[in-house]
Amino acid sequence: MMRQYELVDRVSSYDPSANEDLLNRAYVFATQKHGDQKRASGDPYYSHPVEVAGILTDLHLDTASIATALLHDTIEDTETTFAEIEGLFGREIADMVNGVTKMSLLELSSADTAQAENFRKLLVATASDIRILLVKLADRLHNMRTLHFIKSDEKRRRIAQETMDIYAPLAGRIGMHNFREELEDLSFAEINKDARELVMERLSELNEQSSDMLTEISDAVSTELSKQGLEVEVYGRQKRPFSIWRKMQNKSISLEQLSDIFAYRIVTQSEDDCYRALGVLHRTYRFVPGRYKDFISTPKINGYQSLHTTVIGPNNQRVELQIRTREMHDVANRGIAAHWAYKDQQDEHPDIAKIEPFNWLQDMVEQLKTGETAEEFLENTKLELFTDQVFCFTPKGRLIALPRGATALDFAYAVHTAIGNSCIGVRINGLKLPFRTLLKNGDEIEIIRGESQKPMANWVNHVQTGKARAAIRHSLRERETAEFMALGEQMIESLFAAEGLAAEGTLLERALGVMHYESLDLLRLDVGRGDISAADVLLAVMPKKRRRRSMFAGAMRGLIGRSSQRTTSHPAILPLNGALYGAVVKIAEDHFPLPGDEIVGVVTMGQGVVVYPASAPDILDLEDKPERLVAMKWDEKPETLFASRIHMTAVNRTGSLSIITQTIADFDANITNLSFIQDSDDFCDLTVDVEVRDVEHMDQMIDAIRGSRVVSEANRVIFKKQNFET
Ligand code: MN
Repeated sequence: MMRQYELVDRVSSYDPSANEDLLNRAYVFATQKHGDQKRASGDPYYSHPVEVAGILTDLHLDTASIATALLHDTIEDTETTFAEIEGLFGREIADMVNGVTKMSLLELSSADTAQAENFRKLLVATASDIRILLVKLADRLHNMRTLHFIKSDEKRRRIAQETMDIYAPLAGRIGMHNFREELEDLSFAEINKDARELVMERLSELNEQSSDMLTEISDAVSTELSKQGLEVEVYGRQKRPFSIWRKMQNKSISLEQLSDIFAYRIVTQSEDDCYRALGVLHRTYRFVPGRYKDFISTPKINGYQSLHTTVIGPNNQRVELQIRTREMHDVANRGIAAHWAYKDQQDEHPDIAKIEPFNWLQDMVEQLKTGETAEEFLENTKLELFTDQVFCFTPKGRLIALPRGATALDFAYAVHTAIGNSCIGVRINGLKLPFRTLLKNGDEIEIIRGESQKPMANWVNHVQTGKARAAIRHSLRERETAEFMALGEQMIESLFAAEGLAAEGTLLERALGVMHYESLDLLRLDVGRGDISAADVLLAVMPKKRRRRSMFAGAMRGLIGRSSQRTTSHPAILPLNGALYGAVVKIAEDHFPLPGDEIVGVVTMGQGVVVYPASAPDILDLEDKPERLVAMKWDEKPETLFASRIHMTAVNRTGSLSIITQTIADFDANITNLSFIQDSDDFCDLTVDVEVRDVEHMDQMIDAIRGSRVVSEANRVIFKKQNFET
């Protein structure tokens, strides 16, 4: 284990401004807090945070990161509190320790490796400071290095799998390839020990066959380059067992065919030299087509820069080459950590400082800290990161990824369509909230369901995802279809009943045959929609009715209210009840029928039934199309209030208006609109829209208004174009 002074010396060696006192205090604090806790290896527990700190000194991280590494397990594993760390080491370090602790807690709920990609994104998104992520990765690396001490097979395997699925790719994502390769190889040793041993055997065979090949090729390449006046360093290295294994899997090659095991890095003095070196190598050796890539002019998102090529080298051996400057080499190995180390040295290392992703990551971290929207920034840079998504959990710990701006209702639909459809509310982190609440990273969402719940038309406004929107529309359409069918069924039954017939059995089967319908449902649907009339169905089964059509029309006309003539035949009555008063039965625009009024339904193509007051003049236009008319009656107790309108002429003096509105208020009617025209000094014309229960309610209110002595006239408006100047 690294001693206290060794650690502090190492930090000071690369960072002369390091706060040695703080590092010493953090070291002592960690050893005291972890006390005699032990690791699986039998070592004192505090050796772990010290080793993690040591790993981070290899990355040349700053004082705060090293102190965070020393303290990273104190909140989780000892009595230490956030306040205590803040008091002793300041807010920055306390926040970072807290961040690492939070990540460790997330770890516990993420057994599902199928969600690894989402989980990686969540880790990045919740790391408000990229250094937290670096500490976490170093923590995992040390735990993997000491994995073999853990006795439980199952636990070792789980940790290794999680490392392979989540942490190794995450290290790669932020450009830390050394971390990535070591994490992968340590996991590989646990997950597929046999495969790793086979690869190792083959590697040692190859090494025996051509023991000096690495140096041979390195020498040949550097000689060739120095002839052209290029000063370079060539590093040859054997690939790690896991990356060789992966290549074998991806390209389906056998162990015997395996030869592509060496990679060479050529480190040059300048960016120009990279291209010159490439030119020399391509002239000297045959190059493999399709393998050249220029990541210098177009760096990878994580800041990686290099020229890649493959040539057929000495001894006819394929040789993979990566050509880059010293700084690029550093970034390739240490990724973001290198950017971090160089951040105060822009003058000395302009190559690094100019790399966009560095600034970009910095900005992202800043924005995450201040809570500003990162979206705008991302749109400008057109770079991929995960700030366009939110990651939330089900109560059982399943992770769901949604686009930013998604609501709890989106979440419900993402879990399952049936859950979305029956959602009546949500608990977010235990708190009951409306289901249109916007989600934040790490929210835990419990969906409250209601058995009789059904999606409403306005739900579409409360969701962001296409899946939820499509599911809501689908459900609304399905329900509308069901309502149209029920309406069609009632219309047919009512009309048949009016003729003394029962709409059932053979009678309806005959109708289906005559009208070429495949099913009763489809017939009812078309009648309900108004595409065909119920009278058509009646005439299909009783052609003789055709002769009596005028009588039938007469029955309908009786309903219109203008005719005093009553027929002996009963009119077809369609109750305007709660079940149907919805998508398929609508009140006519510009008309104000109220419960208690005589009403008539007009079957309107594609819209179902539109309800008019029987006294509306437009109904008279339909006298010669009785098949479109449906008699209707109000439900016994309508549950809603109905729109209505009163027209009045009021005395033009102070207080008139308030007396009128007070009178209306006394009747518990809602005023929804009020307009007036002053047409003389003494009087003004008022139009008041009010919501009332029924005709009786309306009549009593009008009587009261008339009695108020501030109006000379008050009348109910039945339809908008009603004319009062009689
Ligand atoms: Mn730890």
